[in-house]
Amino acid sequence: MTLLIDRYGRVARDLRISVTDRCDLRCTYCMPEDGLDWIAPDQQLSFEEILKLSQVLVDLGIRSVRLTGGEPLMRPHLDQLVAGLSQLGLEDLSLTTNGTTLARHAKSLATAGLDRVNISLDSLNAHRFAEMTRRDALCKVLEGITAAQEAGLTPVKVNCVMIAGTNEDEILAFVQFARRTDCDVRFIENMPLGAGNTWNSQKVLSSAEILRRIDAAYPLVGMSRGSEPAASYSFVDGSPGRVGVISSVTEPFCEQCDRLRLTSDGFLRTCLFAHTETDLRTPLRAGASPEELAELICSAVALKGPGHAIGQPEFEQPVRLMSRIGG
Ligand code: SF4
Repeated sequence: MTLLIDRYGRVARDLRISVTDRCDLRCTYCMPEDGLDWIAPDQQLSFEEILKLSQVLVDLGIRSVRLTGGEPLMRPHLDQLVAGLSQLGLEDLSLTTNGTTLARHAKSLATAGLDRVNISLDSLNAHRFAEMTRRDALCKVLEGITAAQEAGLTPVKVNCVMIAGTNEDEILAFVQFARRTDCDVRFIENMPLGAGNTWNSQKVLSSAEILRRIDAAYPLVGMSRGSEPAASYSFVDGSPGRVGVISSVTEPFCEQCDRLRLTSDGFLRTCLFAHTETDLRTPLRAGASPEELAELICSAVALKGPGHAIGQPEFEQPVRLMSRIGG
């Protein structure tokens, strides 16, 4: 089997599939109030096309798939895609969602074969949530977390983008939430990927500082990591729940990166911050064979760059926005 190996010897095993660029929230660091010019439906991959490409990628060594967006649950009948993907012999099939409609879908997604969910949640304060997302929907997200746990989509991982000066006063509230609900709460360093180029390094609260604040109140013990982006910790006092940090900016983990991304309009991205991408939709629709698609994919992976250059003079934010790449 040809491995998806790049010029630095990293092997890709984890595929993130964006199924839509649309979202029902308008997070201020990600999307303008009026949304974006959405990708036209005929430009978007159908479920059948996603399954064909996923089969080729699984045959090349992909072992886990995460469905993302925009907000993936805005794509109708997503459980049908989950059911198809669950037939590919994956080790892990998960979903990243903002949780606003999860309470409605959790059961059918679990029945279709979904293993677990990551939920993006940046505030536990209803007023601040509304300020940060421009939608009054916190209670729906909390209902979604409960529904996911009840449906067995566990461990539920809550991803909180930490923005210095905005939600950093909620770190301990999120830790208490993890202990109360037995969720994994991961604090993500703020990255330059949103619309309007509003990012600056002053808005980054380092993982080291986040951990220092948590450990002072709730002593932590480190857990094993592997190629996971998150460094995870449990509590010395044995409490349920775990916390983690994803330190993309201050302690990049690109040397262990095993991730690839497929956009909803059919482009393969070897890195979140890549400035080039490979069109798989056109050859697929032109009748390319699985072997021809595999060759295109392996060539792209072989040329994968060393990683992002955030903080370096040469750093440039990718043209494609986060809402069109997926987490
Ligand atoms: S920045 Fe790119 S290379 Fe680095 S971990 Fe993220 S996807 Fe991988």
